[in-house]
Amino acid sequence: MSVTVVGSIAFDAVQTPHGGRERMLGGAAVHFALAAAFFDEVRVVGPVGDDFGDDEYAVLRGRGVNTDDIEHVEGGKTFFWSGVYHENMNSRDTLETDLNVFETFEPKLSQASRDADVVFLANILPELQLNVRRQCERAKFVALDSMDLWINIAHEALVAAISAVDCVILNDSEVELFTGEREVVAGARKIMQHGPRAMVVKLGRYGAALVTPDDSFWVPAYPVDFVADPTGAGDSFAGGFVGCVAAHGGDASIDVLKLAMAYGTAIASFNVEEFGTERVARLTGPEIVERVEELQRMASFDAPGVALKG
Ligand code: AMP
Repeated sequence: MSVTVVGSIAFDAVQTPHGGRERMLGGAAVHFALAAAFFDEVRVVGPVGDDFGDDEYAVLRGRGVNTDDIEHVEGGKTFFWSGVYHENMNSRDTLETDLNVFETFEPKLSQASRDADVVFLANILPELQLNVRRQCERAKFVALDSMDLWINIAHEALVAAISAVDCVILNDSEVELFTGEREVVAGARKIMQHGPRAMVVKLGRYGAALVTPDDSFWVPAYPVDFVADPTGAGDSFAGGFVGCVAAHGGDASIDVLKLAMAYGTAIASFNVEEFGTERVARLTGPEIVERVEELQRMASFDAPGVALKG
C-alpha cells in the first residue's frame, strides 16, 4: 500500500494570539504527509523553489516521507502563505498568498506515485486535482480537500474534481458556501449528489462529522489545554483520516471510516499545540494511540434507559 498526496509545499508566516512565526515549513501536502506517514509510505507531489533546502527535506524524510516527486524548479521560489488568527482562533484572515512555483505547476507523477492505492488531493487548483486523479487509475480510495477561493472562482472545475473522488473533506463554512446549506448533514448530502460516497465536515474546535448516504457519525475535538497555532490542523486531520484508510488496504467501510475519524482528530489535536509542523514532527505512535483511546472513552456511554415523566 502507498499514499500519494498532491498539494502545496509552503513557507508560512502566521500570527496568533499566542505569538507567531515569520517563516516556517508548511503547506497542505506537508501537514498531510507528516500525519499520514504514521500509517503507510507517503509520496508527496508538488513544486518547490531554490529556497527549499536540506532542513525542510529533513523534516519530511525524518518521518519517512518519500520526496522523490517533489519537483525542484530552478530559479523559482516556494509557495508562500501568511495569515493572522482572530482571538477565538476558529477563524483567520489570509494576508498574502504568493503562488510562485505553483503558477506554472503541471503535476508529473512517477509510476510509483501513479500506482498508489490511496490518494489525497489537497487544497489546490481543482484542474490540477482532476489531472492527478486521472493519473492514479488504480486508486481504491481518493479524498479531496478544497477552500473558499476555488468554490468562488472555479466552481465548475471543483464539481468535476469532486465527481471523480470517493470522499470530500471540507469545513462547515466551505460546505455552506458551496451549497447554500447551513446544516451539516443536509449540506454534505448535497455535495455527495455529485458522486462521493462519504463526506467529512470539519467543525474546527467542535470536532468533525462523517456523513454517508444513510448515516452520520460525530467526533468531538480532543480537548487540548492550549492552542498555539491551528495552521495545518485540517491537513493533519486529513493525513490521519486518509492514512488510517490506507492502513486498512484502502477499505472505506463504515467501521474503518469511523476509526479514521478518531485518528484524524487525535493527530490534529497535537498539530495545534505548537506552531506549524513543530509538534507533529516529533510526535510518536503511542502518543496518538493514547488520545484515540481517550476519545473513545470520552464519546461513548451506556444507554440503559431512564424512567421519564410524560
Ligand atoms: P489548514 O490550516 O489545514 O487550512 O492548512 C493551512 C496550510 O494550507 C498552510 O500551511 C498553507 O501553506 C496552505 N495554504 C494556504 N492557502 C493555500 C492555497 N491558496 N493553496 C494551497 N495551499 C494553501
